Amino acid sequence: MKKNYPCVEVDLKKLTHNVKTILSMCDKKHIDIAAVTKVYCAQLPIVEAILEAGVTQVADSRILNLKKLKNLNCKKMLLRIPMISEVYDVVRYSDCSLNSEIDTIVQLAKAAKELNKIHNIILMVDLGDLREGILIDDVVFIVSKIVKLDNIKLIGLGTNVTCYGGVIPDSKNLGKLIKLKLEIEKTFNLSLPVISGGNSSSLYMVINDTMPGGVNQLRIGEAIVLGRETSFGEPVPNCYDDVFTLRGEIVEIKNKPTVPTGIIGMDAFGNIPHFEDKGIRKRAIVALGRQDIRVEGLRPMDTDISIFGASSDHLILDVTDSKRELKVGDIVDFKIDYGCLLAAMTSIYVEKYYNNKLD
Ligand SMILES: *Cc1c(COP(=O)(O)O)cnc(C)c1O
Repeated sequence: MKKNYPCVEVDLKKLTHNVKTILSMCDKKHIDIAAVTKVYCAQLPIVEAILEAGVTQVADSRILNLKKLKNLNCKKMLLRIPMISEVYDVVRYSDCSLNSEIDTIVQLAKAAKELNKIHNIILMVDLGDLREGILIDDVVFIVSKIVKLDNIKLIGLGTNVTCYGGVIPDSKNLGKLIKLKLEIEKTFNLSLPVISGGNSSSLYMVINDTMPGGVNQLRIGEAIVLGRETSFGEPVPNCYDDVFTLRGEIVEIKNKPTVPTGIIGMDAFGNIPHFEDKGIRKRAIVALGRQDIRVEGLRPMDTDISIFGASSDHLILDVTDSKRELKVGDIVDFKIDYGCLLAAMTSIYVEKYYNNKLD
């Protein structure tokens, strides 16, 4: 098959393996997984593969992505706190949303009533990471308002850590969530079946068996796609870290000095660059740039290749030490981190290919 470059190749078999591994690991601890699809823009072939592997609930931060999945048979969760301007679509295209603002919840109730639906919400509690969520002291008051609303069902409490503040989830902060759940259930005589205990950074507690009892849902993105937990950046046991491969084509290859000639001003991004003189090196330009990727998140698979830098659409490599006799037209493969994957999957200039489809 003739391919277009740059491209991301997705190995659906490896992905499926990661999904099954993480599902079974969590299932043993009675934890459900909401598989987070945002990093790959909820691309249908990937979502279909993860459902095939046993996922029953998907989660995304954007309604546009959930809308693409409307015909798939699974529960859908909206991760980002909804905008008031999108409440109708939130009710239409998600079964559940994560919330932290009573004004928005009131609007969701109104939309749900008009659309003749019940919308489920999980109330987000800020346990110290300072991204989204209600402060602990305000939770009971907000719940007292939510329980008066029609067409809104509060199904649980959730939290998100290790996103903005880098706070690591542990039994102490997640324990507060469980305590709060019990207090609310008692005060309002209701049941909160879902305790959504975070993202891939909470997975290490499943792995080392320290997850506080009561946490029964995790929203997992990165661990599935990159095989990595995100509190300490450790590999998830028995998972692949190479589900996604970024591939680019060499458009120029020449021996050149490592220090530019002339007076150095600003580069294309307004920085004043510095250069280390390594003498004459064999430099390859790959047709790939900051419009498609995050350069800092690229790792050439050929470990003898290093990266000089990149502009919007040119990636400059040092290929001097590569054992391959590289030439114009050759393809260079990269492993990519989360930020780079996010950029590549989002870029319309990067083709996506799905390999090892399950039949
Ligand atoms: C993105 C996101 C996740 C998934 O995070 P990963 O680190 O990729 O597992 C979970 N919850 C919320 C609210 C998110 O925005």
